[in-house]
Amino acid sequence: MSSRRPLVAGNWKMNKTGVEAREHIARVQALLGDGEQPADVAVCAPFTALEAAVRAASGSAIQVYAQAVHEAPSGARTGEISAGMIVATGARGTLVGHSERRAACETDAQVAARVRAARDAGLDVIVCVGESLEQREAGETEAWLDGQVRAALSQVRPDEVGAIAIAYEPIWAIGTGRTATPETAQEACAQVRAVAGATLDPEALRVIYGGSVTPDNARELMVQPDIDGALVGGASLDPESFAAIVAAALCRVP
Ligand code: PEP
Repeated sequence: MSSRRPLVAGNWKMNKTGVEAREHIARVQALLGDGEQPADVAVCAPFTALEAAVRAASGSAIQVYAQAVHEAPSGARTGEISAGMIVATGARGTLVGHSERRAACETDAQVAARVRAARDAGLDVIVCVGESLEQREAGETEAWLDGQVRAALSQVRPDEVGAIAIAYEPIWAIGTGRTATPETAQEACAQVRAVAGATLDPEALRVIYGGSVTPDNARELMVQPDIDGALVGGASLDPESFAAIVAAALCRVP
């Protein structure tokens, strides 16, 4: 059994106002209880709810992340948010390179620059990679993941391994109810770990799976040797489901 601490993160996407974030976090907290959690627990809130989420999560086991960051520190970037702005909310980290943002033209080079900018500001990062259905069916998954992981980590230093997690999220599994089988997810996460090993200590790096994770499939995924947790979209919006997925991480505790 790995000594890596599991990470279960909820990606709220474009959901929840500040008031809703407060209510949601209070409910998740009540469900999790005060005891030690089997995983690091994070919620990735929209920018407009970050401060409310940070306040609501204060003193609890719940960490708050943003969902994206721009690489520039400030300037003429209408609608963008810098790493410094995220730090100022009290958030702990940020997602980078979610496929929904890559689809809106976030390039590998931007992902690399954004990971660097986030780290320079002291933020933890969950960086997302994953192939499309067309790429999987064309047998291109391995080469694609290889390129995405190398690019994402190209500006990361070895001593930053504890502040980085990679989320393997096959695009065909996100929001579709079509979860990767545990074997498919394990194979890809093992590959991600091996490729990341060129830059970071592979035994220390957390690699998590995302794509239609639910309370029903979370355990069979997280029990795989290279799956250190989950990035959860839809199911994270329901406090009971999210808390149940956190509880499923108990299978990774030695
Ligand atoms: C996600 O968007 O990161 C995700 C994994 O979504 P879902 O769980 O809804 O597939």
